[in-house]
Amino acid sequence: VSRDHHPESSRVRVNGVVFGSDRAPVIIAGPCAVESRDQILDVAMRVADAGARMLRGGAFKPRTSPYSFQGLGERGLELLAEARERTGLRIVTEVVAPDDVELVAGYADMLQVGARNMQNFRLLQAVGERSTAVLLKRGLMSNIDEWLGAAEYVVAAGNPRVVLCERGIRTFETATRNTLDVSSIPVLRDRSHLPVIADPSHAAGRREWVPALSRAALAAGADGLVIEVHPDPENALSDGRQSLDLEGFRDLVVELRDIAGALGRPLADRPETSEADGLARRSASR
Ligand code: PEP
Ligand code: MN
Repeated sequence: VSRDHHPESSRVRVNGVVFGSDRAPVIIAGPCAVESRDQILDVAMRVADAGARMLRGGAFKPRTSPYSFQGLGERGLELLAEARERTGLRIVTEVVAPDDVELVAGYADMLQVGARNMQNFRLLQAVGERSTAVLLKRGLMSNIDEWLGAAEYVVAAGNPRVVLCERGIRTFETATRNTLDVSSIPVLRDRSHLPVIADPSHAAGRREWVPALSRAALAAGADGLVIEVHPDPENALSDGRQSLDLEGFRDLVVELRDIAGALGRPLADRPETSEADGLARRSASR
């Protein structure tokens, strides 16, 4: 994954969505977890309409407590696939165990390896043995060398389609959930040819700070953003406090369009998804 061996920035294609190099930053949005059919279809149509290119949502959730909502499992994957069919959004969802890789890859366009699994070497090898693109989040306590080592596991196993995601690290600061290490973005761009995106939601821990961190990450050179969005954040089954509501997300994308334009990497135009537009308009006027 080092530039020493591959000086050109690589592009990672996810069924038509392209990460990296000088391409438009990719906006990925969606809830922390898939909770119900209504929830995921509603979010999908609205974020597609606002300008997201990919939909996120966990079907298998790696929760700190075993008593917290663990996700809908395969039913969640089916709902994500339905959302893709209706909106054209590509799907990224987390895989938490090597034995689940085949199942999740049967539905997802991109496999997320979460922060808590960044050094699960069997899992890295398992996603490396497939051709499905991988979103590798930074571990909570991992430095950049360890993170690049994890990416190397995937690439060495045969899968070069890796996108790195800075999602904040644990520091002495407790005001935020994590500390977004904005500096990892230019460091990675120097050292690695892989695309780098940022997740301001898990870094901030509070929705009111997500816009500022999103702007900072884009300005630092991120190739995209992952933003948690929920139609009813107060009643979300996970990460509601850091989730934007549908209007908040729409407003944020308007702001990001200006920033991306000023940086010379304008966001891609909204794809023509007539069904998504129609349904979004209907649900907005309800
Ligand atoms: C998530 O994306 O919902 C998630 C659990 O992220 P992370 O692994 O970065 O904590
Ligand atoms: Mn989450």
